[in-house]
Amino acid sequence: MSLRFYNTLTRQVEEFKPLEGNTVRMYTCGPTVYDYAHIGNYRTFVFQDVLRRHLKYRGFQLRHVVNLTDVDDNTIRNSRSAGVPLRAYTDKYVEAFQIDRQLLNLEDPEFLVRATDHIEEMVKLIQALMDRGYAYASEGSVYFKVGAFPHYGQLTQIDLTGVRAGARVDTDKYDKADARDFVLWKAAKEGEPFWETPFGPGRPGWHIECSAMSMKYLGETFDIHSGGSDLIFPHHENEIAQSEAATGKPFVKLWLHGEHLIVNGEKMSKSLGNFYTLRDLIAKGYKPSAIRYLLASVPYRKPLNFTFDGLHQAQQSIDRLRNFRFRLTKENFPPGDSPALKARAQEAREKFEAALDDNLNTAEALGAIFDMVRDGNTAMDRREFRDGDRGAFLDTLERWDRIFAVLDDNDHAKLVKFGLLKEGTSSVKLGLDARELKSAGVAEEGIGNGYTQVLQVGTLSDEEIEKLIAERAAARRKGDYARSDEIRASLLQAGVILEDTKAGTRWKRK
Ligand code: AMP
Ligand code: ZN
Repeated sequence: MSLRFYNTLTRQVEEFKPLEGNTVRMYTCGPTVYDYAHIGNYRTFVFQDVLRRHLKYRGFQLRHVVNLTDVDDNTIRNSRSAGVPLRAYTDKYVEAFQIDRQLLNLEDPEFLVRATDHIEEMVKLIQALMDRGYAYASEGSVYFKVGAFPHYGQLTQIDLTGVRAGARVDTDKYDKADARDFVLWKAAKEGEPFWETPFGPGRPGWHIECSAMSMKYLGETFDIHSGGSDLIFPHHENEIAQSEAATGKPFVKLWLHGEHLIVNGEKMSKSLGNFYTLRDLIAKGYKPSAIRYLLASVPYRKPLNFTFDGLHQAQQSIDRLRNFRFRLTKENFPPGDSPALKARAQEAREKFEAALDDNLNTAEALGAIFDMVRDGNTAMDRREFRDGDRGAFLDTLERWDRIFAVLDDNDHAKLVKFGLLKEGTSSVKLGLDARELKSAGVAEEGIGNGYTQVLQVGTLSDEEIEKLIAERAAARRKGDYARSDEIRASLLQAGVILEDTKAGTRWKRK
């Protein structure tokens, strides 16, 4: 086996090997915590989670850093208009991000770190750049001198010679010596939070955050750096410049960039207003596991067009996989085994693994599993499936799910656990305000308490459903079909569908 990835830096597919030993040192740019992240952001985070899980699957150890940008123009602007101190304001969205991550089964990185906890490291890095002649102060701010770093533009591969030194860009609020120069430290402005430093009071620029935090936890040169493709320029280009100018060493070996989630041909983004948060979709009755599946289903270097139809299909695909697993564990098969079927499961395993090794081709990995599920179901229907064949199929499914992480039906339990669903009622507590509820299309103006009627998510806990199903089975054994039908009808009303199979009663939420 060999793992291969497309490297933005070299524009080539390269074989992957960690720089040192068996540990992969990886940095992925996290969210700016000024609002709820949207599912475009989560497309990138799900891609990075699949990457992380596949690296682990292939036996590597991980040292993975995710940052939280908790100081920038947006966080400052919003905290001020909310009249809340910056830290308290961003805390709310850090917590929301943590809940969303768990709903989407994003594994915990080894380090989840906040920019404002690393001001000292940023100041030291800026100081080192000034000492080495790569940075200069101007009117209380500090800038990176792009002209002093000859490798500038290596990631983007854009020709910057046309940008005239000394040219002023209208939107520039700061006094730069060269239009290409970018800010490392911003002078304090009236009413904004600031930190005292040797070059005056102020706050960090966005790019320096990621250089300082990545090098603190991963060293001056590390294996992988990743983000959405909108971060290539200027964010990652600037990170390379700052880091390499300060250390004189290569910063990152492999740069991985995910393509966007798009809506009607446009990038999903806050500024265009064409976005859904995870909670918006939950409020519309969609399951986090279906959202994860949808976001993971298209290979990360291809744009993914978001539609509700696609989301609906994702849910159906998961149901097919879960039903197959249910048959594998519950149905009775004749004794013995069939080598051809076991080989079929093994072949599917090798195919999905090879697909992921090949620059994380998730679509092919899914295809391999669905082919196996189709053949397995056919063999079961034709009574060719044997008791001893279960293991090979379950093994392939379980391995596949170590990476895709969608097979366990625990959405409902998690929504209850995180307080997003009020147990025993049909209300979902989303923590959204009236404006957000309205934009999610689930509430009329005037509902401000964060509760809304969302029947699709269901009103019963898993335990309550199991109890009713047991009661129905008992009624049927006694021949009390009236009671049995009554239970089925009331479950249906609560959004739970029953299916009686030879292996027992199977249920799912609508
Ligand atoms: P931000 O919170 O804006 O700093 O973005 C966090 C991550 O989400 C970055 O890696 C972005 O590149 C990524 N991102 C933003 N919009 C989209 C989108 N529509 N599709 C995929 N990734 C996105
Ligand atoms: Zn970053």
